[in-house]
Amino acid sequence: MRTPAIVVAVALLIFGARPLAQPRSRVVMLGTGTPNADPDRYGPSVAVVVDEASYLVDFGVGVVRRAAAAERSGITALAAPHLTLAFATHLHSDHTLGLADLILTPWILERPTPLTLYGPRGLRAMATHLVDAYADDLRIRMRGGEPTHQHDPRRVNVHEITPGVVYRDERVTVTAFAVKHGAWEQAFGYRFQTPDRTIVISGDTGPDSHIEDQCQRCDVLVHEVYSEAGFSKRPPAWQAYHSRYHTSTRQLGSIAARAKPGLLVLYHQLIWSSTEDELLKEVRSAYDGQVVSAHDLDVY
Ligand SMILES: [Zn+2]
Ligand SMILES: [Zn+2]
Repeated sequence: MRTPAIVVAVALLIFGARPLAQPRSRVVMLGTGTPNADPDRYGPSVAVVVDEASYLVDFGVGVVRRAAAAERSGITALAAPHLTLAFATHLHSDHTLGLADLILTPWILERPTPLTLYGPRGLRAMATHLVDAYADDLRIRMRGGEPTHQHDPRRVNVHEITPGVVYRDERVTVTAFAVKHGAWEQAFGYRFQTPDRTIVISGDTGPDSHIEDQCQRCDVLVHEVYSEAGFSKRPPAWQAYHSRYHTSTRQLGSIAARAKPGLLVLYHQLIWSSTEDELLKEVRSAYDGQVVSAHDLDVY
């Protein structure tokens, strides 16, 4: 239904001079990369920020420094001491290479509480091995003259999860859902229900994960993608791999057409020899809603 002109005129009179209220919830793209060592795209990590709280999904290379860059641009919820909670989609290295950074750097920067993690089986062992690997560093930092730290960083609260509601506080309900990511036994996407938005993050996934059931007109759908034009020039063995593990532009277009998000955000873009413009064109050939291709530190 079209809004009558008189309603628009009255609304403009009442609200026109004021800036739009900032949403309570924002999606901050800390890293939009892949295993490829693209210097412009750090490892995958997305922060859902609600008021002064932050919730990280994945912790790729550079996560703490990207969070510091977001803090510098005014998102204080991403200051290092606030990085207390993170959700892992799966244990592929590109999504987890920043775990030692996330355990140790905010601890040195006086994070008041231990890190709490949610994710698949194997996450506890990964955290334990990393802490063990830094045993000498931790011994020196704790007993070698640094001012006293507030807790023992060897304590990481790890929750190995199964699909369903995995976390709830006064700001968010976080639901993990299973996605099909090649040979991984466990890989998750996450849905965040906040006071003002529903945000769905795919993690790495093939095309048959029924993301549309999780989104259903959600406000923001952050989804991985690969370029069909770039894919067509990949060696056959890699093509076989990518098509099992990831989602093509046109496949994502039809997923989004069913999911109907307010905004579709592409991340973890595998573009190869193609371009970002072509990537967007391919998605739009199957989807006529709002879509953007994210870069590091974009905020939605
Ligand atoms: Zn990945
Ligand atoms: Zn992966």
